[in-house]
Amino acid sequence: MPIPVLPEAFVESMQSLLGPSWNDFLNAMASPAPVSIRYHPFKKKIREENFEQVKWCSDGVYLPERPIFTLDPTFHAGAYYVQEASSMLIEAAVRQLVDLKAPLRVLDLAAAPGGKSTLLASLISPDSLLVANEVIRNRYQTLRYNLTKWGLSNTMTSNHDSREFGGLEGWFDLVLLDAPCSGEGLFRKDPEAAREWSTDHVRFCASRQKRIFADAAGLVRPGGIVLYSTCTYNALENAGNVAWFCQEFGYDPIPLNFPGDWGIQAQEWGYQCFPHLVKGEGFFLAALRKQSGDSDKSGNLKPVRIPAWEPLAGKWMDMAKSCLEAPEAYTFYADGEGTIRAVPKALEEEVKTAAHALKRTHWGVEIGQIKGKDLIPSPALALSTAISSAFPFVEAGKQTALKFLKKEQVELPGAPNGWTLLRYQGLNLGWVKIMDRRTNNYYPKEWRILMEV
Ligand code: SAM
Repeated sequence: MPIPVLPEAFVESMQSLLGPSWNDFLNAMASPAPVSIRYHPFKKKIREENFEQVKWCSDGVYLPERPIFTLDPTFHAGAYYVQEASSMLIEAAVRQLVDLKAPLRVLDLAAAPGGKSTLLASLISPDSLLVANEVIRNRYQTLRYNLTKWGLSNTMTSNHDSREFGGLEGWFDLVLLDAPCSGEGLFRKDPEAAREWSTDHVRFCASRQKRIFADAAGLVRPGGIVLYSTCTYNALENAGNVAWFCQEFGYDPIPLNFPGDWGIQAQEWGYQCFPHLVKGEGFFLAALRKQSGDSDKSGNLKPVRIPAWEPLAGKWMDMAKSCLEAPEAYTFYADGEGTIRAVPKALEEEVKTAAHALKRTHWGVEIGQIKGKDLIPSPALALSTAISSAFPFVEAGKQTALKFLKKEQVELPGAPNGWTLLRYQGLNLGWVKIMDRRTNNYYPKEWRILMEV
C-alpha cells in the first residue's frame, strides 16, 4: 500500500515526537488500515467465532477484510457499528471511571455520526441517560439515524452548539468531548485529511477545541468527569489543551490502567494510540475529574413538562402499550400531530429536564403515528430493542431483505394481512403492510439503499 502523501511540517513534528520509532510509524502508515466492527450487545447477530477480538472492547472485533457493509442486511438492522478500533478505548476508560450499574447522566457533546454514542449507550444501564448532541444539522440527522438503528431506550439526541447547554450546568456525571480535530491519526484511512492538514489548521482546531472544552467544563457536577478525545497526535490539540483546561477550570487528570500488551502510550496529560503500537488508528484520550470546590447545582434543575407533548390518554393507550414488550416500564406521550412516543419511567424526569433545557431534541421510543383509525408503526419501533415480541413477522432471505431495504416492491407469499415486521436472520429491518395480494413497503425513503444490488 502506498504511504499517503504526508505534509512536510507534519513529518517534522512526528519525527521529533517519535524519535527512533518514526520508521515503525511510517511502515504502519504503509500497511492497510485494520477493519473493525462493534457488535450490538443485545441484537443477536450470528457472530463469527474466529474473528480477532479488540483487546479493550468486549464487543469489538477485527474483520479479515472490508466487506460491502451496505449489502449486509444485518448492518441495517443495527446488529453492529463499523468503528475504528482505537476509538473503542472509550469502553476501557469508562469501565474504570464510573460505576456502570448506577444511574448516570452522560453527555456526548460532539457526537455525530454516533460511534461513541452507540458505545456509551451500550455500556450504561437502562436507568442511565445518554444525551447525544451534534451541532451541524445534516450530521445530526446521521446521528439520529445511527442511534435509531441502535435502538436503545436510554438515549436522547439534541441538535445544539455546545455553548447552548448552559441550562444543564452541573447536571452530568460524565461528559465526553470527542473534539473536532485535524485528524492526523486518520491519514492512513483518509488521505484527504492529510491533504487538508496545515499548521494553521492545527492552530485553528486547537482554539476551536478550547472553546468547546470550556463549554464542557461547567456541565459536570463536582467530582464528575470530562473525557476528552481526539484522533490526532500534536501537543497543541492534545496535551496543551488538557493542561490548559485543568488549570483554567479546576480539573485533575485521572490515571487510567491499560495493560502493557495493549500498546497504548501513557503521556503526561493522557493516553495515545499510535498505529505502529496498536491495531488501530491514531487516537488520544484524557480523563479529567472536576474538583469538588464548586457547589452542586444539579438539584436546582427541576423537570417540567416537555413542550408540545402530553401524556397519552384515551383509546390509543392499549394499542400503544401492545407495541412494547414491557409497557409498564414506560410512559406514553403524544403530540398534536398524533405521533406517539414512549419514555422509560426510570428516565422520565431526566428526559423532561433535558428536553426543556435544550429545545431541539428527540427522545423516547417512537411508537407510531395515528392516521384515521390506524396506528402506523414507526420504523424506529421496528429497530428498537423494546419492541413487543408479539408482532407478526416474516423472515426474509437476503435478496428479499435487500429489495426491502432499497424500498422496492417485495413478494411475501403466504404472509398474513396487516402490519408485519420484515426480518433477516432474526433481526427486524422494518415494516410492511400486507393487504390481500399487495404488500406495501414502509421502509423510510431517506434510509433506503441507493447502491445497485
Ligand atoms: N464522536 C463522534 C463519533 O465517534 O462518531 C465523532 C465526533 S467528530 C470528531 C466531532 C463532531 O463535533 C463533528 O460532528 C462536529 O460537527 C461536532 N461539533 C463541532 N463543533 C461543535 C460544537 N460547538 N458543539 C457541538 N458539536 C460540535
